[in-house]
Amino acid sequence: TELPADPDLTNEVRQVKNTLFSFVNPTKPSNPKLIHASKEVTELVGISEDEIQSESFLNVFSGKEILPETQPFAMCYAGHQFGNWAGQLGDGRAINLTEIENNNQFYTLQLKGAGKTPYSRTADGLAVLRSSIREYLCAEAMYNLGVPTTRSLSLILSGDQVLRDILYNGNPAYEKGAVVCRVAPSFIRFGSFEMLTARNELKNLKQFVEFTIKHYFPEITGEPKEQYLQFFKKVADTTREMILHWQRVGFVHGVMNTDNMSIHGITIDYGPYGWLENYDPNWTPNTTDSQNRRYRFGNQPGVAQWNLFQLANALYPLINEAAPLEKILESFINDFNSDYKTMFLSKLGLFTSIESDDQLITDLENILQLTETDMTIFFRNLNSVVKSDFAPEAIEKIKYSFYKPEEVSGEISEIWAKWFSDYLERLKAETFSDEERSQKMNLINPKYVLRNYMAQLAIDAAEKEDYSLIDEFYTLLQKPYDEQPEHEKWFAKRPDWARSKVGCSM
Ligand code: AMP
Ligand code: MG
Ligand code: MG
Repeated sequence: TELPADPDLTNEVRQVKNTLFSFVNPTKPSNPKLIHASKEVTELVGISEDEIQSESFLNVFSGKEILPETQPFAMCYAGHQFGNWAGQLGDGRAINLTEIENNNQFYTLQLKGAGKTPYSRTADGLAVLRSSIREYLCAEAMYNLGVPTTRSLSLILSGDQVLRDILYNGNPAYEKGAVVCRVAPSFIRFGSFEMLTARNELKNLKQFVEFTIKHYFPEITGEPKEQYLQFFKKVADTTREMILHWQRVGFVHGVMNTDNMSIHGITIDYGPYGWLENYDPNWTPNTTDSQNRRYRFGNQPGVAQWNLFQLANALYPLINEAAPLEKILESFINDFNSDYKTMFLSKLGLFTSIESDDQLITDLENILQLTETDMTIFFRNLNSVVKSDFAPEAIEKIKYSFYKPEEVSGEISEIWAKWFSDYLERLKAETFSDEERSQKMNLINPKYVLRNYMAQLAIDAAEKEDYSLIDEFYTLLQKPYDEQPEHEKWFAKRPDWARSKVGCSM
């Protein structure tokens, strides 16, 4: 590329100044074995289906071999972690193999878990099988839900053991290592720019922003300052759309640090993420955040704005004017709120909007929390409610979403009945027939998501070398909005044993 590379080619942990990336080769795995590869993603980047089973596919995507004429590299970036400035972070266990252009689109292929880089700090640069399965499956599930995301190309066992825990008796607990190849237009993060500004490397900042715009946002033109503002606006817009989708499908990222925010507005870095089961805006899957709950479901829009504020600060030295940046930040929340309303109404099968809708939405958000109610099942089953229903009939149709149906009695049952009678009344103002409305709702409210316990089942089986559930979920989640009678058992509430299970981050 045109950007200055780190002249230091040793693979030693260090502060990397005055540049954006360091050349580093993946660590060779001792005995790689392909667990799964995505036909869709290989095709996207121009790899043919019969190449998937080849020796060279296995070698390249496990890090054993480097593609000819490529120079893998790890990127330098910083970030705010849980609201605090964390300084240089960088790709500690991610290595960009190369960038491919196919059908006029750029794709960066990146290995995660392929060994140490200059940014590994005190860690090992590796990834364990369980977190790799979670990332591999979830990214593709999100894509098929229509949520902007990185893609998963392959999931490969390294054949090496990774130390993650010391057991209560002091013995080390080893786990199987794995490498995921993920794909995105680029892996540039908010933190990539924050790093340069924090170090006052303004020449590099300008060069990097210009490179980013020219390469990834060629539609942005005009005066330099105008371009930087347009770039910021574009990042704000795509981030807003991404968060809107997260709230629509009940996805909680869990670690929305600025180093985990993509400038393309795509979901990156699947760590301790989780899916809302019972609708609870305060829920976070991240156990290290259980005190402050900064990254709870209901806080994701606010955190996105806070993160964009950090990006604005990073771009400020190029713009030297606060007002236009502030304007974009303000409109972020206003636009989000208005889009959220439209989105939420569409989940209810309401495709127009009237004044009383704000109340209808707020009421439902509150009622869903009176007793544990499964978000996915509630909204999906709402599709069978018809205009001629009375409230008790409608409640009967969504009853399967209650974790404790016995709690829906007395006052709670009256509150539900009241809401449904308001809703049924409101439905009459819609012009679509019951049938049409139901079909439209089915494209908005997924039938299947990667529930936390499902990922756990796939992991438990894979630890015993049974990869069939990985493939089953991969296939199931290709069509999350379709009825799939053969998979109906996955349209089910979280079982009791999975109640306290949370995501894992390592
Ligand atoms: P995360 O919270 O997963 O986004 O990671 C924060 C930072 O820690 C990033 O710079 C990662 O590259 C780094 N990191 C996470 N896990 C490892 C690991 N096992 N080895 C090296 N660096 C890691
Ligand atoms: Mg990260
Ligand atoms: Mg991570």
